[in-house]
Amino acid sequence: MDTGLKGKKAIVCAASKGLGRACAISLAREGVDLVITARTAETLEATAAEIRAMTGVNVIAVAGDITTEAGRAAALAACPEPDILVNNAGGPPPGDFRDWDRDAWIKAVDANMLTPIFLIKSVVDGMIARKFGRIVNITSASVKSPIPHLGLSNGARAGLTGFVAGLARQVARHNVTINGLLPGPFLTDRLKGTMAGMAAKAGRTLEDELAARMKDTPAGRAGDPSEFGDACAFLCSVTSSFIVGQNLVLDGGAFNSSMG
Ligand code: NAP
Repeated sequence: MDTGLKGKKAIVCAASKGLGRACAISLAREGVDLVITARTAETLEATAAEIRAMTGVNVIAVAGDITTEAGRAAALAACPEPDILVNNAGGPPPGDFRDWDRDAWIKAVDANMLTPIFLIKSVVDGMIARKFGRIVNITSASVKSPIPHLGLSNGARAGLTGFVAGLARQVARHNVTINGLLPGPFLTDRLKGTMAGMAAKAGRTLEDELAARMKDTPAGRAGDPSEFGDACAFLCSVTSSFIVGQNLVLDGGAFNSSMG
């Protein structure tokens, strides 16, 4: 399949590690020049160097917190007219909703709802004018199947998903698509960290803990981030312009439904 992406430009947010990094790598393999962001300059630069060496595309590393206005402005300054925007940021912490005050909610809504909305607002009109745009929001399988102790994530990401459902249908006729990619368990540093904690508590190895937790899911395993990245590159391809406002769950079949 020819994705037609060679020479296009992308901003991939929160991309020094994990799912964002995987999306950046898959886009780079299709010849897309990148601006990647993360807060920690050292790991971000290392990822940028790795992608350059692997693919030969131009990669600009912009260190900063994408949930702040300054962080977003820096990313946009490095790539004012992106063809592709991949929205991503860290997820809110777990907990009991009784413990979350207004500040906790505002932080979650800022990171996982308003940050992608403001980035979309900054780039979408240019995409419309140029008659090409692909926006992918990395959210979570919890958008379709809420995880009770992740209430901040369930709420903020559902807000983004609802907003995007309307906007995606306003911009589709200009060859600008906005879709959600909803990860289930993927073996990123984040998941490995969580699982390592659970393994230690249960007196098991990380491998045994993972095997025990994944054995009842249809795929019987956690996802590899590269599988997520490739799905992102597919949604960004020039031939994907009829995929509009969708929320694609990548969870090895764990979400049990006849109609996705
Ligand atoms: P990860 O392995 O911890 O990687 C997170 C990446 O985001 C790092 O590069 C991190 O770098 C960057 N980052 C975090 N906060 C940022 C910020 N405010 N501004 C800029 N960069 C930031 O995490 P992941 O597993 O890839 O998860 C990515 C997203 O998917 C999260 O929202 C997570 O909740 C969601 N998700 C993941 C899974 C999964 O199984 N992996 C499942 C469901 C949902 P710095 O720390 O240096 O900034």
